[in-house]
This record gives sequence, C-alpha cells and structure tokens, in this order.
Amino acid sequence: MSEESNPFDIAQGQLKKVIKILNLDKSVYDCLGNPHLELTVNFPVKMDDGTVRIFRGYRVEYNNSRGPYKGGIRYHPDVTMDEVRALAAWMTWKTAVVGLPFGGAKGGVVCNPKELSKNELERLTRRFTAELSIIIGPEKDIPAPDMYTNPQTMAWIMDTYSMNKGYSVLGVVTGKPLELGGSLGRFEATGRGCMLCAREALKKLNYKVIPPEIWQKNGYKGMEDESCKDQGTGFRIDGATVALQGFGNVGAIAAKLLQQKGAKIIAVSDSRSGIAKKDGLNIFEVIEHKTKTGYVKDFEGTDEITPEAILEFDCDILIPAALENQITKNNAEEIKARIIVEGANGPTTPEADSILFDKEVMVIPDILANSGGVIVSYFEWVQSLQSFFWSERDVNCKLRDRILSAFHEVYQTSKDYGVDMRTGAYILAVNKVTEAIKIRGIFP
Ligand code: NAD
Repeated sequence: MSEESNPFDIAQGQLKKVIKILNLDKSVYDCLGNPHLELTVNFPVKMDDGTVRIFRGYRVEYNNSRGPYKGGIRYHPDVTMDEVRALAAWMTWKTAVVGLPFGGAKGGVVCNPKELSKNELERLTRRFTAELSIIIGPEKDIPAPDMYTNPQTMAWIMDTYSMNKGYSVLGVVTGKPLELGGSLGRFEATGRGCMLCAREALKKLNYKVIPPEIWQKNGYKGMEDESCKDQGTGFRIDGATVALQGFGNVGAIAAKLLQQKGAKIIAVSDSRSGIAKKDGLNIFEVIEHKTKTGYVKDFEGTDEITPEAILEFDCDILIPAALENQITKNNAEEIKARIIVEGANGPTTPEADSILFDKEVMVIPDILANSGGVIVSYFEWVQSLQSFFWSERDVNCKLRDRILSAFHEVYQTSKDYGVDMRTGAYILAVNKVTEAIKIRGIFP
C-alpha cells in the first residue's frame, strides 16, 4: 500500500503537520500519534449449515483524555487494523473539534455481510460483543453503526451487553432503533450537518443567500426548515449547484435537504454509475427510483456519466459521500467546484489537499462536515443515560448550533494561521486534546 493510500499514514501525517505548526514537542506527538489500546480477536461463529467459521474483529481505543471512547463498528471484507486505527484517530479529532466530551475509537469485523444470513449476522454480532465486553460500556467505550452495520446491529449489541449485566444498559451504544432509546433526528443527522456546512460555506464565499424575512414574503411558504425556523436557519441558497458522489445515507439526505433549501442538484452517482441533469434533478423522485431499482442509473430524463466524472463536474458544491481516497493528485486539478463538503471519511488525499488549497477551493474537512452523526449520537447517549427523550426539533436545533459554531471556529482558525480548513480543524482538535492531557497530568 503506498503512503498516500494507507489511511493510518495519512492520519499520522496530518497530525505531524499540525504538531509542527503549533511547535509542540515530540512527546506530544508520541502521546497523540499512538492508539492507547488495540484489541484483535479471532472468534468462532456457528453458521446456518452447522459448520463453524472463525472471524477476525478489531477495536481500537485511540484516546480518552476528553471522555469515553466513541466510534462505530464496520463489517466489511477489506477491514484492516490500519484502517481501524486511522478511523479511531479521526474520531478523536472529530469529537474534539465539535466539542463533545468524548475520545475516539473504531471497530470492525472482517466479513462480507452480504453473504451472511440475518441469523448468522446476529450470532456474529453477539459473539463479537461478548469479546468486546471487557472494554466497552456506557462510561468507557460507546460503539455506533458504520459501514454495513445498522440500528438492528446496535440493538443486538445492547441486548447482549445488558444480558451480561442483568439490566438494560441503553447507553452502551448509539444509533439504536427508536423503540430502544434511539434519538429522533439521528437518521438524517450526518446529511443535515453536510447541508448546514455547505450553506455556511456559500455565505462565507459571498454567494447570494436569501434570508428568511425576504423569501417568506415572496411566497416560498412550506419550504422553510421544518424544524428550526429561528436564528436565520431558514437562509435559502437558490441557484447554487451541487454534485454528489454516493447516494446512501449521507449523500441522499444531504441532497434532499439542500434541494429543500433551493439548491439545484445537477449530478449524483452511486457504485454503478452517475446521472446528470442540467436543470436539476428532483431528488425525491431519484430516491424513489433508487429504492425501487437499487441504483440511480436509468432515471428518466438524465444523461449517464461515469462515477469518476462526477468529481470533475462543473458545479458550486461537490459532496464526496462514498469512499476514501477519491480526490487525489490525479484529479484534483480537474475539480471545478468552489466548495467541497466531505461527507465521507478521508475522501481527499494530502497531495490533493495542497492542490485544492492553491486553487482556492474551500474544503470542509470530514471531521467537521460529517460530524452531524456523532453530534446526534452524543445527544442520544445523553437521552439514554437520563431516560428522557427530546423532540426532533430540539435535536435538530442543538445539532445546528453545535456544528455551526464549530464551523466558525474552524474557519477563523484557518484564517488566523493562513492554512486550509482541514489544518484549521486539526489545530483546534489537537489543542483541545493536548490541553486535556496537560490538565489531567500523567498517572501516577
Ligand atoms: P451508505 O452505504 O448508506 O452509502 C454509500 C453510497 O456510496 C452508496 O450509494 C454506494 O452505492 C455509493 N458508492 C459506493 N462505491 C461508490 C463508488 N465507487 N462511486 C460512487 N458511489 C459509490 O453509506 P453512508 O452511511 O452514506 O456513508 C458514506 C460515507 O460517509 C462513508 O465514508 C462513511 O464512513 C461516512 N460517514 C457516514 C456517517 C453516517 O452517519 N452514515 C457519518 C460519518 C461519516
């Protein structure tokens, strides 16, 4: 694996760069550059045909200076320890940059969930939870869904952990089904965060945004943000054009919410192909088409484009919301968007970052742009601990306040240091974690 595509090398490179800018000494890098705990387990699962298969699972607890470890669990054939390490590091910076009282962690099981039955997935999840039970817990390490895990997976984890305790422990995971202490607003949270970041970036770049007092008078009734009408959240962005790579939980929801704000979604793609329409797609209809057929391909009245071409599409806002390492030194020069909102984790390589900075493209980094999910996970954890549940409006307003204040802090830091927003976000996050370590001191 080349240095550019090994995610842990990338994560460490980003950290080293910031340590240098902040003039912190080597002991800080030694402290922040290494995960605290790494667990690898090879565990047996009974398959439906009576055979037994051994699966490999990982959990990396990166840093807990600011609070319990927090991070998802993914099921994927390509999961590696380095990937999990990198994702755990990014979770540490993500929770810090948006001011959550959490550290960072991540987990994964090497498996192809598409080839497993529901019963096999349940047995795999319950056994993996039992293996993790020595390190997870509502005050210690709180998993959540990630690629190919979902609310049902979280319900199995919660139930298995609770069976061993002898009582229900809702706070041990987030991303749970609503019936089991999940939070309203969690499903849309990451896409909503992307939409809010995209709109704020447009304001910073002096795009024409329309305040609510104007557009409400002009008869856009019913188009306002249904759950947060106060504090200028109703700003519309009519005419801004958007292209999205990835049309899943993050991409499709960001597209829907941006369209509701007046943006024109002119191209979207999924793993099979891309579709484009100059006048703008009707995202509700595209979602319906994808739900029926499984793909965006062949949606009526659109031109087909390759999944790769989407990144170079002529638009104001590009949202990579699929995979890592998509914007590289090979295509960064061809990017036409003025704003990139990183819905996915790690879609831009460091070399691409510096090309984009020179081109004055505003990149809203993943640790800020896709933090909506972990912000609402935090709200879910708080609700679960208190057994007191909030309205969707409360959740959405609190999400908006937290992500926008982080956006402005990151923006200002990037201006103060003359760096891109990713570096600005890392400066803030590394400072917060370093401060926490200093104040706590080293035990004993
Ligand atoms: P998802 O599985 O719901 O959707 C992924 C989408 O990407 C699918 O539409 C898939 O078809 C598409 N895709 C896969 N390969 C592609 C390719 N080569 N080209 C174009 N599209 C391709 O996943 P998701 O939850 O939307 O997550 C997407 C990204 O966002 C991941 O990097 C994930 O780690 C990150 N993320 C998700 C959340 C969340 O709350 N869901 C939070 C933070 C970060």
